[in-house]
Amino acid sequence: MLGHGRDLATERGVECPGDLPAPSDPGLVARARAAKEALGDRVFVLGHHYQRDEVIEFADVTGDSFKLAKEAAARPDAEWVVFCGVHFMAESADILTADTQTVVLPDLAAGCSMADMAAIDQVEECWDELVEAGVADVTVPVTYMNSSAAIKAFTGRHGGTVCTSSNARTALTWALDRAGRGGKVLFLPDQHLGRNTYVRDIGGALEDCVVWDPHRPMGGLTPEQLRDATMILWRGHCSVHGRFTVEAVEAARQAIPGVRVIVHPECRHEVVELTDEVGSTEKIIKTIAAAPPGTAWAVGTELNLVQRLAAQFPEQRVVFLEKNVCYCSTMNRIDLPHLVWALESLVDGRVVNPIRVDPDVAHWARVALDQMLALPGETSKD
Ligand code: SF4
Repeated sequence: MLGHGRDLATERGVECPGDLPAPSDPGLVARARAAKEALGDRVFVLGHHYQRDEVIEFADVTGDSFKLAKEAAARPDAEWVVFCGVHFMAESADILTADTQTVVLPDLAAGCSMADMAAIDQVEECWDELVEAGVADVTVPVTYMNSSAAIKAFTGRHGGTVCTSSNARTALTWALDRAGRGGKVLFLPDQHLGRNTYVRDIGGALEDCVVWDPHRPMGGLTPEQLRDATMILWRGHCSVHGRFTVEAVEAARQAIPGVRVIVHPECRHEVVELTDEVGSTEKIIKTIAAAPPGTAWAVGTELNLVQRLAAQFPEQRVVFLEKNVCYCSTMNRIDLPHLVWALESLVDGRVVNPIRVDPDVAHWARVALDQMLALPGETSKD
């Protein structure tokens, strides 16, 4: 249970009167410590902001997916990079690290429902249909970091770029410029980030956006709609951020006078339009850290991070924005038992769950990632 009744503060989950048992077997904590110590500098553990506390405790560095991939690339001496995050992140780390390094994902079931909403066959088919409609040669693909290596490679092959939630505006401006007058962007796989960036950050019109449904012929669009559109948004979304609602924003404002609402740009457009601030996880963390004591924040992003912020900044009132949103179930696949298993296996000389991207896919994904790195003022994401 995340909370009950109408008191938003109960959703924080950081206070519980009485003595709760430890969240994990204390034996596992000691085993994780021992394994990490035995491996020393040969292992580097990365922890995404959405990971559980019990896992974050063993991370050498925490951050968003792009920051973590760059951190991994900056540690060429680490033989093994244990990525406590989801599959597409481990793939990006594999692409950006040296061939001599191995990236390990402690649980292969840690995928991302958003990334899974754009399969490479569907995207190739979409491109063929854009060719048929006569618009492919004026369309530049942009894929969000939260996509498979195969989608990043598709983007690289077609002269596009990867973007993060921090640099989406820069990436989109670059892509529209590259597409030229009357040109278009095919934005994958998160329709909300694409729409929010185009309308909020670039000042484009909502009417310029169409949604490509991969389950319908021609994406469910007519050739005229495709010709008239500037943004072709893939019909994908985050199953966590897509659940925050307008009603939740209104309820928070009613329940907590003076509360400021901050959400991630993966939230739906109508929600983002209502909030006080919008930003990547890194921006959310920085904003709350820099806020004056005594301020109240209703935060619309993954619950593990919101709980951690509430605990880290007790001088603020930090509440979770929405009662009907759960932890990211795939992020939560990585737990202490899986981390201990991955680390102890390395101690025993066995690499479990290595993530190895096909060399050709890795080459073209790297082209798209390098294009992103070449964008002005590149920072970080998700
Ligand atoms: S929070 Fe959303 S985008 Fe992030 S890993 Fe989970 S499903 Fe994917």
